[in-house]
Amino acid sequence: MAHEPRVSDELGRRLKAYEGRTAAVSAAGKDPVNAPMIRHWCEAMGDTNPAYTGPDAIAPPTMLQAWTMGGLSGHTARSSAYDELLTLLDESGCTSVVATDCEQEYARPLRPGDEITFDAVIESVSDRKTTKLGTGYFVTTRMDLHVGPDLVGTHRFRILKYAPAHRREGPPREEPEREKPPRPRPVVNRDNAGFWEGVRERRLLIQRCTGCSTLRHPWLPGCATCGHPGWDTVEASGTGQVHSYVVMHHPPFPAFDPPYAVALIELTEGVRMISNVIGVPYEEVRIGMPVRLEFKAYDEELVLPVFRAEEERVAVGGGSRAAR
Ligand code: ZN
Repeated sequence: MAHEPRVSDELGRRLKAYEGRTAAVSAAGKDPVNAPMIRHWCEAMGDTNPAYTGPDAIAPPTMLQAWTMGGLSGHTARSSAYDELLTLLDESGCTSVVATDCEQEYARPLRPGDEITFDAVIESVSDRKTTKLGTGYFVTTRMDLHVGPDLVGTHRFRILKYAPAHRREGPPREEPEREKPPRPRPVVNRDNAGFWEGVRERRLLIQRCTGCSTLRHPWLPGCATCGHPGWDTVEASGTGQVHSYVVMHHPPFPAFDPPYAVALIELTEGVRMISNVIGVPYEEVRIGMPVRLEFKAYDEELVLPVFRAEEERVAVGGGSRAAR
């Protein structure tokens, strides 16, 4: 059972005293910047930028943290101050942790052969904050990466250490009726206006390059395959399948009722789009599930394409036909 953290101004003062203290000192990357790690990263990210291959390759800037990671065996460079800070938070009841965000700055490109060293400092500890997850403190660590004497990049990493909010047991408490805000509107711009016009007419339009006929979604001003700016459209047949999905639990946005499934739908035409699957409970959405397009009116103005789970298309006994 969770409790309010035993917080006080006194705790806040003790936590603040850790600002500026070392989190890790003069640690070295386990490997120099190297082409195999760059290649694996690019494959995992699907990044085919030619800057990351060949004799003049640079490392993708967002790999910055990868060069500092300790792997399974870890680093020995972590300071006692950081451990003390986390222990203090644990003892005050802030036993849960969630990584909230990171920020990076790049001072110069990294190239194979660069030997990385890094120092980390506890940059800031926030005042006590109450969030949907619970009450606690944001701790920001700043890592400075060097090659020789040169600063090459900075990686800031923020966590929330918190005491989990008390979970209600039994039936939900009566809450005052509040009018639910409308579902957020799509952002219509010059590049995607034609798509939303199609939706208003209950047609799902896929952009097609008039240079190389490649289909694309979402709509873009040019073709990623051949660079041609010209396009026309083809209307989707409306069939497809769930390529992947997530179940959204947190954070709860006012216009939505979590948990719900957000799916990446692969249309039969080959392009993919993010949408909702309707017609089945969220926990029954599965990869490969056949779906069919519908247009759903969410309110008087907003219509969105959604996908209804289709009955299993494999019949029992004679006359069976495969799903694909
Ligand atoms: Zn093209």
